[in-house]
Amino acid sequence: MPYKTAQTAQLAAHHLEPESSEYAINSPAQVDVIAGTLPCPLCTGTLRLVEHAATTVGSVRLRVARLVCTACRAPRAVWFRLGESALH
Ligand SMILES: [Zn+2]
Repeated sequence: MPYKTAQTAQLAAHHLEPESSEYAINSPAQVDVIAGTLPCPLCTGTLRLVEHAATTVGSVRLRVARLVCTACRAPRAVWFRLGESALH
């Protein structure tokens, strides 16, 4: 059980990603643009956008882009926060 707990916590932390990788955007179209410029944090390879999805946390509208490195295949999630101008 201690092993499972530790593993679960590690997975959860990995999935949530630190908030430092959150970008403010004004349009959902910017997700693709910004995601295309990000290097792999592990090997600086090219990241490929797998999908992005809209989500809401409280009253904040977020989009999460799921990326995978084309070189080392490391997954990465990048969060985007839509600015107010995108809400109208
Ligand atoms: Zn990589």
